[in-house]
Amino acid sequence: MIESINLQKSFGNTQVFKDINLKIEEGDIYGLVGRSGAGKSTFLRCINGLEKYDSGSLMIDGIEVRDYYNKGIREFRKNIGMIFQHFSLMNRKTVYENIALPMECWKYNKKDIDKRVKELLELVGLEEKMNDKPKILSGGQKQRVAIARALALNPKILLCDEATSALDPKTTSSILKLLRDINEKLGITIVVVTHQMSVIREICTKVGILEHGELLTKGDVEDIFLQQ
Ligand code: ADP
Ligand code: ADP
Repeated sequence: MIESINLQKSFGNTQVFKDINLKIEEGDIYGLVGRSGAGKSTFLRCINGLEKYDSGSLMIDGIEVRDYYNKGIREFRKNIGMIFQHFSLMNRKTVYENIALPMECWKYNKKDIDKRVKELLELVGLEEKMNDKPKILSGGQKQRVAIARALALNPKILLCDEATSALDPKTTSSILKLLRDINEKLGITIVVVTHQMSVIREICTKVGILEHGELLTKGDVEDIFLQQ
C-alpha cells in the first residue's frame, strides 16, 4: 500500500534521510521509531505530500506521490488522515464543528455531515462532549476529537505523528486501544511515528528503526524485539 525505494530528502545542505526502503502493507500498524531529529516526521509528511522528497520513489497504491504535486494533491490527501502531538484543533469551534470541518471544506451537505459526525463521536466515545470547546477537554479527549476529524473523509491511511507523546501512560493506552480498534474495525492502515518504544510494542505489527536518516532495522515487531 505504501512503498518507498531509495527515498531521499534534504533541507538545504542538511540531509534528513537517505535510501529509505520500506513497504507498508494494507492493514498494517507500522511503527517508525527513532530519536528526535531522526527524520521520522519528515518521512511521514512525504507520505501525504506535505513535504516533497528529492529523489527515489514513494508509491501509494502503486502511484508515485510526486505525480500529485502539480495536480490532484487535495483529492489525494482525502485518502490520508493525520493526527499530531498537540492535536491541532480549532479552539473557537466546538467538538462537533471540528469534526465537521473537513466535510464542510468538501461541501458535503448538512445532513450527511450530521450523520457522519455522530457516527464518529460514537466511535471515539465523545457524544456527550459535542458542544464543548476543546479548551475544556482533557488531552485524551482532544486526541479523540482529532482522530474523529482525521477519519471524517473515510481515509484509507491514518498517519500518527507522536500522537501520544503529550499524554500520560494511562491515556496513552486508551488512545492506542482506540487506534487498534479503528485498524481492526475499519481496516485502515496506520503509520505511527514515535520516539517511544513502548508505543511500538503496544500496537504495531511492523517496525522500522530510523537513526540519523537511515533505516537501521525493519521487520515484524516480535522478531525485532526478540533480538534485543
Ligand atoms: P523527527 O520527527 O525524527 O524528530 P524530523 O523529521 O522532524 O525528525 O526532523 C529531521 C531533521 O530535519 C531535523 O534535523 C530537523 O531540524 C530538520 N527539519 C525538519 N523540518 C525542517 C524544515 N522545514 N526546514 C529545515 N529543516 C527541517
Ligand atoms: P482522559 O482519561 O484524559 O479523560 P480518555 O482518552 O481516557 O481521556 O477518555 C476520553 C473520553 O472517552 C472519556 O470521556 C471517556 O468516557 C471516553 N472513553 C474512554 N475509553 C473509551 C472507550 N473504550 N470507548 C468509548 N469511550 C471511551
